[in-house]
Amino acid sequence: MRPGSHRQWQRCCYHSGVTGSTDIFPPRALSTVFLDRDGVLNRKLPEGRYVTTWSEFHPLPGVPQAIARLNRAGLRLIVVSNQRGIALGLYSADDVRNIHAALQTWLHAHGAHIDAFYFCPHDNLQCNCRKPLPGLFQQARADFPQIDAASSVMIGDSLSDIEFGHRLGMKTVYIEGGPSHQKPGTEAARHLADRAFPSLPDATNALLAHLAPSNPKA
Ligand SMILES: [Mg+2]
Ligand SMILES: [Zn+2]
Repeated sequence: MRPGSHRQWQRCCYHSGVTGSTDIFPPRALSTVFLDRDGVLNRKLPEGRYVTTWSEFHPLPGVPQAIARLNRAGLRLIVVSNQRGIALGLYSADDVRNIHAALQTWLHAHGAHIDAFYFCPHDNLQCNCRKPLPGLFQQARADFPQIDAASSVMIGDSLSDIEFGHRLGMKTVYIEGGPSHQKPGTEAARHLADRAFPSLPDATNALLAHLAPSNPKA
């Protein structure tokens, strides 16, 4: 594709998304919610620090309740997480699996669960699975062939999360966090995302408010 035609495509779709009837949020047939992990489910550590053990995983307020509500609405919940700290030698893939197992146990105690976890263990420019590249979506769809981007939402707190969802054709939700958590790319992410909310519980309220008529359990 010529560079010029790509720009034209973006301009076209941006405008039709804002003004046209295609800007349905969430999609009417919402079935899958893709969740970033750090900064969405748990407190993001200061830049350059990584969650290496369950004791460093500090869930954000209201997260298990929000996940339980999304579960009860019949939505499939998939965590997709860049874990570059593995490539840097700061922790191992098994450490990440142990954290996810502990998170799942903790969620179960709150009547909630995640359907599957996928993570990229690579550094920049080494793979096809570091968001915003699509590999983690492809892994999820290999395990859950019913997954369809058009009926999915990506929720994340980084520009790479929003680009990941947007490129795949999902609706996107940017989690802004507090004023002290403003990151590079915040403005671009807010602009590109379909919606922005301070937290996962706020995003959940918005998703389920739209779904309420057909999902009475939510
Ligand atoms: Mg994040
Ligand atoms: Zn990767």
